[in-house]
Order: sequence, then structure tokens, then C-alpha cells
Amino acid sequence: MEALWGIDLGGTKVEGVIMADPARAEPLLRIRLDTESRLGYDHVIGRIKELVQKMMEESGLKPQRIGIGTPGELDPILGVMKNANSVVLNGKPLKADLEQALGIPFEMANDANCFALAEVHWGAIARQFPKARVVFGVIAGTGVGGGIVIDGKVWNGKHGIGGEWGHNFLDGSGGRCYCGKVGCVETVIAGPALEKYYTGLTGRSPRLKEIANLASSGEPEAKATMDRLYHFFGKALSVITNILDPDVIVVGGGVGNIPGLYTEGLASLKQFIFNNTLDVPVIAPLLGDSAGVFGAAALTLKHNSAAPNH
Ligand SMILES: [Zn+2]
Repeated sequence: MEALWGIDLGGTKVEGVIMADPARAEPLLRIRLDTESRLGYDHVIGRIKELVQKMMEESGLKPQRIGIGTPGELDPILGVMKNANSVVLNGKPLKADLEQALGIPFEMANDANCFALAEVHWGAIARQFPKARVVFGVIAGTGVGGGIVIDGKVWNGKHGIGGEWGHNFLDGSGGRCYCGKVGCVETVIAGPALEKYYTGLTGRSPRLKEIANLASSGEPEAKATMDRLYHFFGKALSVITNILDPDVIVVGGGVGNIPGLYTEGLASLKQFIFNNTLDVPVIAPLLGDSAGVFGAAALTLKHNSAAPNH
């Protein structure tokens, strides 16, 4: 059986994994390097090459192809990266450059897509809803992203932005977003946005986790911050639910760890969707930090690499 090779490219770390058996979430090998993206785009390509060489040396294996999860996404029409918060990548033909530098074909997807794909193949969806056909994966942490998986494969979309709900308009109170627009989902419900809202109420700047704890001990400002999150989480997700009508939604990232999302957040979603019942399960992920790199490896599963949409 052919091993699956995956790379998760982040702004600070680049991680590689080899999955020996596609049926099991047990890596044969896992290596991490600093991306050193401040040294520029060519340096990042060099680091990925170094990582793959290390993986080959340590495993004694050679990849047929490699899946890679990236911040932002590859524009399928223009062939260049866009929307990456790791800005050295934007405007660059990352896939073509990697294939030229390494002489190996790459399958590429956004990191939120990889998260969703990993949870479908090896995580919470595989475990709890193995028959789910349409899955929406949410990453809500320092930013807000999303990925669509249909019948076990990533749906990238014509422009590569399938599932990118983080920059839908949600509420003007979020203010200006790094993307240039105002009131994006990310400016309202991402971790930094919640922390900023709480600071505006109290003048203090604790981290999100502490705000969530303060809310459960009854502090009014922390509670107001969480209530606002639940309200807008449901409102934002109702747009996805109405358009995609997924079988399951899986929620990852630091904001996704807040238990109230699965009670009050769901109550809010129920209020906003165009349906008289809400029976789409909204669940927590299983793979934690491993989802990104495992999902990248899952991009090389036969039915994924043959997908017509990427
Ligand atoms: Zn935005």
C-alpha cells in the first residue's frame, strides 16, 4: 500500500507527515521545521525542499506525490496564491514552483479544507458520522476559515474560495478587516475580535480562554462578550446552513473550544436558519493540531487527486 505524504505550511512552522496506512490515523513519521518566512518566498520553497529530503532520509521512502495545506489558497484560474495571511506567498505560483524544485507532483488545498478533510477521513466525522456526504469544517481561532468536503473530497470551487465564510459580511461593528472589507465574520467572532470587544467594555486585556472562564463565573462583561459570540456565530453559520445544508458541521480552532457554542451558539443558529427544525449536528473535532497535516496527506488519496475541481 502506498504511503500518504502531507505537508502543513504555516507562517511560522512547516510540518511533514507520512501516513503508512490510509485506513489509520497513525503517522509513520512527523517532522517540523521553522518556516522562516521573513526570509522571503524562495527561502520558504527551500525549507519545504529541505523538509521533504529529511522525510525521505528518515523513512527510506520516496513520495509519488505530496499533499500540501497552505494559508490562503491557490487560484485555479491564475495558478497563483491569494488571501494568505503569510503574505510572502501571495501572487506566487507555489504549486508550480514546488513541483519544479522537487520534481514531485503536489496536491494543494487551503488549511481549513485540510482540517475538514482530516476529520472526515480519520477524525470526529469518521467516528461519529461515517455516512455524512456533505461536511462543513469551521476553523475559528486567530482568524476564521472554512472548508467544504463532499463525498470524501475537498470542494475547492471555481476560484478556490469554496467555504471561505470568514470574509462574508456579518456586522459593521467588527470594523475594518485585514482583507480591506468591513464587518467580516472574522472581525466579529475570531479570538482577537472577541478580546478587543471585551477590552472595550472593561479596559482590561485578558486572553480569550480567561474571558470564557470569567463568563462562566458570572462576570457581566465577559458574559456579554460570550453572548455576542453565540449570537453572531449562529447568524454567520446560518448563511452556510441555508446554502449548503450540510450533514454535519465540525468546529475547530481556539474559539471552537468554547463549550457554549454547542448550546447557546446552536440556539442562535436555530433562530436564524430557514427551517423549522435544526438537526444538523455541530460537533467538536478529534484530531487537534494534527488535523492540518493529516488532511494534507489525505489530499493524495486517489479519489482526491483525481478530483476535477482542483
Ligand atoms: Zn475580511
